[in-house]
Order: sequence, then structure tokens, then C-alpha cells
Amino acid sequence: MNTKQEPLDKIVDVEIYHVSLEQKTPYLGPLIDNEKASTLGYFVREANRTVYALKNHSLVIRVLTENGIEGWGETYGLIAHNATASVIRDLFKGFIVGRNPLDVVTIYEDLYDLMRVRGYFGGFYHDALAAVDIALWDIFGKTVNQPIAQLLGGARNKKIPAYISGLPEADIEKRCELAVSWQKKGFDTFKFALPMASEGMYEEFRLLREALGNDASIACDMHWSKSPGETIELINEVRKFKPWFFEAPIKPEDVNGLRQVSKKSSSQIAVGEEWRTVYEAKARIDHQACQIIQPEMAHTGITQFMRIAMYAQAHNLVVIPHATIGSGIFLAASLQVSATLQNVISHEFQHSIFPEFKHYISSDMICESGYYHVPTMDGIGVNPTDEMKKNMTLL
Ligand code: MG
Repeated sequence: MNTKQEPLDKIVDVEIYHVSLEQKTPYLGPLIDNEKASTLGYFVREANRTVYALKNHSLVIRVLTENGIEGWGETYGLIAHNATASVIRDLFKGFIVGRNPLDVVTIYEDLYDLMRVRGYFGGFYHDALAAVDIALWDIFGKTVNQPIAQLLGGARNKKIPAYISGLPEADIEKRCELAVSWQKKGFDTFKFALPMASEGMYEEFRLLREALGNDASIACDMHWSKSPGETIELINEVRKFKPWFFEAPIKPEDVNGLRQVSKKSSSQIAVGEEWRTVYEAKARIDHQACQIIQPEMAHTGITQFMRIAMYAQAHNLVVIPHATIGSGIFLAASLQVSATLQNVISHEFQHSIFPEFKHYISSDMICESGYYHVPTMDGIGVNPTDEMKKNMTLL
């Protein structure tokens, strides 16, 4: 006898959109020295040889069900977003239309397996998977009228400490002024970007510490720009300024180098923003190569974010989620998961992006006086507004 019940709902369509998040100043700050835009609107930061875009972009998806529920997902769309869109439209869509949207993790694993032996378990492929995963969790929450945090076992925290990420000004006086202006608004944790530190790491720490006082926490994002030897020397030089942590010090592939940095530095090492899965976390955590784990929801989706955070927790490591450029959809998903975890001590706040595009989402998600307020609506807790829909292009 077949006891298997028919699903109550079915996925009927998947739509993919490019979202424009235009800003006057490029991410991290104005272009410097020989940095020039390509004909396609990209430029390379000299300090870390990495490509960025003049205008910010995001990739948003809408998954529709037979019962009329719409799930929203979002992934990283800053560079060559059509590659990610194509994976969803030309491959995933054909394998998820008709399925039960509540089979979230099963669908995630099935899609992951499709191309794993060919080596597609990261990069654009997994970004596409992250968008689908977030949208399906959103449908799950909307189906049972609960926020995702509830589905994951319950929100431990309604508010999550937020740190000010990046000080996108061209000179150090202005960067100090910007940091102090946020301190006056109730934020006392900061991170500066080494590629934009015009006077070098030592001066940046010295002047920020002087401007912000002894109680502020100050971290440095090294943007993978130094060798292990240089990193150890630099970190130990600024010890007296009591740095909070150092992010992404060396090339991401160099696990042994990271381990060496971690062992010989006087401060905590934070990594994880470029990881897609727990396998990348495992390779570093098992080698005791880092102390702080930074999963990025736009790359991991909810399913893998949880796996990475739980692996970190099992190894007594703290999690400070990364938050890249987006409309607020994956940020909400990141807060939903973070609210359930015991080892999340802070969360990145892109102060130059999130408040600018607040009108793109309808939600009670806010970030003020040093804290994010976790959204309480069903699903991930945000929906695009008409204003955002005007800036969405179907791909
Ligand atoms: Mg970073």
C-alpha cells in the first residue's frame, strides 16, 4: 500500500531579476591612483587585485507555488550576474517546478549533487543555489505562518549587535569623522578596509583609536592582500591599539599560511566570507587556522549557513556573519538564522547600503543604536516594495 501523501503545494514558476542598487560612491570608497573603470563598468582595486563594480547590483528571485505563495530569495549579483541567473533559469528551474516547496533541504541537496562530480560546488553555481534555498525557506515560513527563526528552533535573540563596516572616505580625517558620527548614533564596533587605509594599517589604527576612545572595538579587513609573514609582522606591530580582529589576511586558498598566521599573531583571525559550504569551513577549522567564522548568506543560503555555524559552534568558535551588497532580502535571512544561534556575537552592518535602500523592502527589520532588530514577519521577514519592483529587470 502506498502511504505517501500528495504534497499540499507545488512549485509552479521561478523568476529571476536583476536589481539595480545605484550609488554615487563605489563600494569601499572612491577610485584611487590608477584605478579606472572598464567599458563594462568594472574596476580593479590595486591593493587586492580584485574586481568591483561602479554601480551596485543584486540578483533576486521569486518562486511561486500553486497555492499562490511567493518566496523571495537573493544572491550575490555584483559581478557577471547573468552567469548566476543562467544556472537558475537554464538548469535549476527544470528540476524544481512541480516539487513540494517544503522539501527545502532535500531540494538543496538534490541541486547540489547535480554537478558536484564536475567540480561545480562553489562560485556562481552555489550562489544560484543560495538564492533558491532562501526563497524556499521563505515559502516554508509563509506556509506555516512563522518566521524562519521559529522553523530553525526558535529565536534566541530579538536583537543582534551590529558593527559598522567600512569607512568609505578618501582621507583619514574624514574616515575618523565618519566613525565618530556612527559612535554618536550608538555604535561602538567598527571595521576598516586595509586597501583604503591611505596611511597604512598602523596610522589607521592609531588615529581611529584616538578618535573613538578605549572602549570601541576596531577590526581590520585585510582583503587577502598580504603574505603570511607580512601579516604576522603587521598584526604584532599594532598590538598596542588593541585590535578586535583581522579579517581575510592572506590569499584564501592558502590554508597552511592561514594556520601559521593564526598561531603566530597576537590577535584573532576572522575568515569565511567567500565560503559556500561547510567543507570549506572544515578545511580551516580542522587546521585551527581561524578564531572567528564569517558566513555570508548571499553565498551560502540558509541551509549551508546553518551547517557552517553549527560546525563552528562544535569547535567553540564564534560567528560574526558577513553581509555583502544586497537589497535586504538575504540580510533578513542572515538575521533569521543568526537569531537562533548561540555563538553569534555580532553581525556586519553595511551602513552605506542598507539605510540607502530601506525603501526597497517592507519589513520591521532595522539597524539602530548598535543593534539589528530581527524581522518578525512570516518567512524571511521582508518583501520587496513597489519601489524595488520598479528597479527589477526580469532576466
Ligand atoms: Mg571582508
